[in-house]
Amino acid sequence: MIDLAKANKNLWKEITDESADIRNCFNCGTCVSGCPAAEAEPPLLIRRLARVVLLGLEDELLEDGTPWICVTCSACEEMCPMGVHPFELCLSIRRWQSKKDETYIPSAVTEIFQRGHTQPVGKVQELRKSLGLEEVPPTIVKFPELLEKFQAILRETELVKENDYMFRL
Ligand code: SF4
Ligand code: SF4
Repeated sequence: MIDLAKANKNLWKEITDESADIRNCFNCGTCVSGCPAAEAEPPLLIRRLARVVLLGLEDELLEDGTPWICVTCSACEEMCPMGVHPFELCLSIRRWQSKKDETYIPSAVTEIFQRGHTQPVGKVQELRKSLGLEEVPPTIVKFPELLEKFQAILRETELVKENDYMFRL
């Protein structure tokens, strides 16, 4: 149950740029319909995030890792009929989460470390096959030796060194 008594009514002002007033969002879902990350598990649902921001549900927003799986394709920016700039909203939420809790490490970061992607590619293999493509895409998942090198580079970063318990394989 949503407890609006604890809601921060000014949250949308703290998060968004006034030039893109998210109060114009009428929850049409167009941004979700063309978003590749809406197929992820859990899905990135920009229209839901806009609602969470407008309702001022800080705790819920702070725990939501889905803005970090946005692949920055900007499709939603093109499609939104109300000029809400959903992609910018996504980035703004990331910035807000990072400022709000400096120790915050989104689960997407550990997933990228483990497999080079934020999502397992298994679910797209059937689709690729039906399109006549190789089942495994020619990305880092196809080259385990490159994934090892990628992980070795990441192990040199302060983020991984200081939080090594989160980056074990
Ligand atoms: S920019 Fe991000 S939120 Fe927008 S459609 Fe692309 S993946 Fe989805
Ligand atoms: S497309 Fe724009 S108006 Fe429609 S739900 Fe997404 S952000 Fe809101």
